[in-house]
Amino acid sequence: MISAFENAKKQIDAVALLLKTEYQDKLIFEKAIKSLKTHQKIIKKKILIRMDNGKTKVFQAYRSQHNDARGPFKGGIRFHPKVSEDEVKALSTWMTIKCAVVGIPYGGGKGGIIVDPKKLSDSELENLCKKYGEFLTPHIGPWRDVPAPDVNTGEREMAWMLEAYEKKTGFHSPATFTGKPLELGGSLGRTEATGQGGFYILQNYIQHTRSVPARTAIAIQGFGNVGYWFSKLASNSGYKIVAVSDSSGAIYDRKGIDVEKVAGYKERLGSFEKVSTEKKMNFITNEELLSLDVDILVPAALENAITVDNAKIIRAKAILEMANGPTTPEGEEILLKRNVDILPDVLCNAGGVTVSYFEWVQNLHGYSWTKKKVNEELKEIMNKAFGEILAVVKVKKISFREAAYALSLKRIIDAMILRGRV
Ligand code: GLU
Repeated sequence: MISAFENAKKQIDAVALLLKTEYQDKLIFEKAIKSLKTHQKIIKKKILIRMDNGKTKVFQAYRSQHNDARGPFKGGIRFHPKVSEDEVKALSTWMTIKCAVVGIPYGGGKGGIIVDPKKLSDSELENLCKKYGEFLTPHIGPWRDVPAPDVNTGEREMAWMLEAYEKKTGFHSPATFTGKPLELGGSLGRTEATGQGGFYILQNYIQHTRSVPARTAIAIQGFGNVGYWFSKLASNSGYKIVAVSDSSGAIYDRKGIDVEKVAGYKERLGSFEKVSTEKKMNFITNEELLSLDVDILVPAALENAITVDNAKIIRAKAILEMANGPTTPEGEEILLKRNVDILPDVLCNAGGVTVSYFEWVQNLHGYSWTKKKVNEELKEIMNKAFGEILAVVKVKKISFREAAYALSLKRIIDAMILRGRV
């Protein structure tokens, strides 16, 4: 079993070596790095739900609050059978780093429940969300910790959790959750925000490598909210999406896929495997997708998709990480030796939390922005982050991840020092 949290710690350690020279007081620096490899608070609870058949069932729930030196903890809530304490620890660490990469005033948190939500009825799911919201209530709030959606959660789940929170506290507080439905204070553009942010990074990278969209072949692993929106936006702008996949496998067409059409088929038929049989489309395994001769490979599913075992078969010239933690440090080492650019998760998928920040700002003002404003502000933040990272890559001759971590860890450590925490 690969530990995502061990990987996050390895990434921090690798950059600590580069950053050390910037701090005169080495003891303080070492203390800060040590503290970034632990968490401020981890809360967990076994949540009991009455199922539709009258029986009770227990679900293990977590919330990890990694570091709040730069602002309230921020991060999503994941519903998945593979959720674990190790995973929420890793994901909350990456949230702290991600918020600092794009310069938004938050720390990092992440929550999760070990559950396959597809196996629950709507009322069972509502119950679970509300119980989880009650469990979180003493630990969250606009200036404490602001949860949001992650894998298998969305606006519906946020609405239920917000209701449980407001019922318990006795007042309205929309800024406690982001990713809410529009009617309850959600922001325009939040649903597609992660894909949109990744798309802006793609545009920046293409400009940097002097390529053109029509000659850029992209394979995308994962077709949840993030994979779908990224493929759709890239395809609308003329990029050649040659493969899209889900856990059943991938649809592949060298000449380019009509993303909207394939998404419609998947919606109706359930899986790409079924789509391929019914619609007579070319079907390949997820392993084969990784080995496609494409310009850009986009892992947009879960952690540890690219490891020491399969890095060798990857032929893409660049990886644009839309999932959190899709490449292990050992897998990355192999790819970097072959000069594959890896655009890191903490940059590429930061669009989601950035628009969450806009939602929080709107809620605190009791005012709503137009979609145009949301996207313009998002574009500015993503472009700025890419530019800053690229400048470090060029000057220090380090990888994109190392550059992103160097900038980000410096911001977090400086905040810790200013507070006198280390
Ligand atoms: N779950 C998303 C992420 O991993 C968004 C978090 C948020 O909006 O707070 O970045």
